[in-house]
Amino acid sequence: MPVKPEIEEFQHDMTAWRRDIHAHPETAFEEFRTAEVVASKLADFGVEVHRGLATTGVVGTVRVGSSNRAIGLRADMDALDIHEENAFDYVSTVPGKMHACGHDGHTVMLLGAARYLAATRRFNGTVHFIFQPAEENVAGGRVMVEDGLFDLFPVEAVYGMHNSPGIALGKFAVQTGPAMAAADMFEIRLTGKGSHGAHPHHGEDPLVTGAELVMALQRIVSRSVNPMKAAVVSVTQFHAGSSMNVIPESVRITGTCRSHDLAVQDQIEQRLRQVVAGVCAAHGIAYELDYQRRYPATINTRDEAANAARAAAEVVGQDNVILDLPPSMGAEDFSWMLQHNPGCYVRVGNGEGSKGSCVVHNPRYDFNDDALVYGASYWATLVEQQLSLQS
Ligand SMILES: [Zn+2]
Ligand SMILES: [Zn+2]
Repeated sequence: MPVKPEIEEFQHDMTAWRRDIHAHPETAFEEFRTAEVVASKLADFGVEVHRGLATTGVVGTVRVGSSNRAIGLRADMDALDIHEENAFDYVSTVPGKMHACGHDGHTVMLLGAARYLAATRRFNGTVHFIFQPAEENVAGGRVMVEDGLFDLFPVEAVYGMHNSPGIALGKFAVQTGPAMAAADMFEIRLTGKGSHGAHPHHGEDPLVTGAELVMALQRIVSRSVNPMKAAVVSVTQFHAGSSMNVIPESVRITGTCRSHDLAVQDQIEQRLRQVVAGVCAAHGIAYELDYQRRYPATINTRDEAANAARAAAEVVGQDNVILDLPPSMGAEDFSWMLQHNPGCYVRVGNGEGSKGSCVVHNPRYDFNDDALVYGASYWATLVEQQLSLQS
């Protein structure tokens, strides 16, 4: 079953591009070199290039024929603040930064598809190749949308792809409905009255209140949310005190809440506010609560998930398309693009063996170059099917 032979022919080029980008990782909104590499290659392929959205974002456009239909394909370009521990010759040249999530591979798979589609032009309509910065932590996808991505480049659907270590090379996973979770963050500052550790009755102890609060927050998921719905409330930081015999004046607690369903997200926020207010009131401790909804859930729409599954099946065969992968509680800023358009975010196998088994965000992770031809062929097939010459 066919990967695109024309793409297979330049697999060595894609591997070289991927390793070059891997050796020169750049993080959020500083992807200047990467954006330059992307823009100049697109121009070489004869693709119209638009730069500057979200600082380092790049959009390439290919128009063919008379159809006014258009779709968007999105890749992320950013690296992480992790010091690479690999020993191969294209290891990161930047201390403390590395491509540990495979966005180097995502960038190159989309470049490969652009090269193929600009040369073969076997479709009717417009394809926008969206290269976005800052997927990790700071939602560059949201910034691109706010900077007018879909006003400048309107599309009927937008598609994204991420590699997955643990899924075999030559397989794809396509989920209908929730793929990734909404990510909310909270910070709670408790203020009491500091006192000597020997004389707690002279103060108001925010530390004991904070400990009670951490336990009380566990009840949101276990006692309030419908057990058939996915939800997470994790306390991730608890900072208090600096001495063995001093009851501190203040406590800082942070955490994250995850959900797939907007009603559950609303319920978690409401219950968290109630629990913080109630526990603090019970003990006379003042508090400030900052609750932020950072990333919406990534929800694949039904028709576009079917489109993605059909394209993947064309490339790797129906048996190699996983349709029952459970959704993740991780978050993804492609969700911002799905707030504005129907679309689908798929997984491409990064391998299960020695080459691909290391998890993302690990200092020994590396994108599997053997996946490049599958990912690029999937993009190319999706465009040729969706913007079919017969349509
Ligand atoms: Zn990541
Ligand atoms: Zn990633």
